[in-house]
Amino acid sequence: DDIGPNDIEKLQVLGHGNGGTVYQVRHKRTAAIYALKVVHSDSDPTNRRQIRREMDILRRTDSPYVVQCHGFFEKPSGDVAIVLEYMDLGTLDTLLKQNGTFSESLLAAVARQVLSGLSYLHAHKIIHRDIKPSNLLVNRQMDVKIGDFGVSKVMCRTLDACNSYVGTCAYMSPERFDPERYGGNYDGYAADIWSLGLTLLELYMGHFPFLPSGQRPDWATLMCAICFGDPPSLPESASEEFRGFVECCLKKESSERWTAAQLLTHPFLCQ
Ligand code: ATP
Ligand code: MG
Repeated sequence: DDIGPNDIEKLQVLGHGNGGTVYQVRHKRTAAIYALKVVHSDSDPTNRRQIRREMDILRRTDSPYVVQCHGFFEKPSGDVAIVLEYMDLGTLDTLLKQNGTFSESLLAAVARQVLSGLSYLHAHKIIHRDIKPSNLLVNRQMDVKIGDFGVSKVMCRTLDACNSYVGTCAYMSPERFDPERYGGNYDGYAADIWSLGLTLLELYMGHFPFLPSGQRPDWATLMCAICFGDPPSLPESASEEFRGFVECCLKKESSERWTAAQLLTHPFLCQ
């Protein structure tokens, strides 16, 4: 019972992604609310490729920690659309901007859910490659789910040089810039853990870790900081468990970084 284009009506625009628009829609018969991600026929080939990739991945996933998909369609006009579970609080990025920084206990709940999602994806050989606050969706129950699989990758071989520049550069891990130096045993999954570590730092401090508050990112400076600097860490005000946890996410050498399954057993998440 997939939802088709004639079953729904648009209510409002929720946001704009790269090349697409996300609408809030209502199912006419049941009055249930969904989000509809549309890439229009006139958008460029990259965006059209991305939404197809997203469809392909959402088709394979079924986890409470990954945004649920309720149907796909392609209109005669060429518009491609995905019907998604509606997350009524938006993203962690909007929450940060509206309510300010997150408490440690809230971040532990966020981390537990994102790691459960990553552990599911990684077990299914899917690397998200764009984990960041604006791609983590939230609802009123404070369920956090991974969304936006536009640049994700399904690994078909065990080893794959997936060091192409996709995703949001700022959240990219050292081994994605310099696999020879930081990518001993490089398989790509650890990059999602790095991005999660940066995401938690940002939600705790209120600004992106490599840049002082308010500074606009500049690509070259950022890349140097990621590759040649020490990994960012939490301020003294954070608990020892939380600091230790973030440290395990932000090991520069990818093979030393903890996996999603390992991090789920960390004391920070068990308190
Ligand atoms: P980028 O990843 O480049 O920052 P984006 O996250 O804005 O882009 P999309 O993932 O396409 O791009 O989503 C656009 C916006 O639509 C999101 O930021 C979010 O506010 C909203 N949105 C997306 N999916 C949902 C959903 N399932 N429920 C509620 N809102 C959603
Ligand atoms: Mg996004």
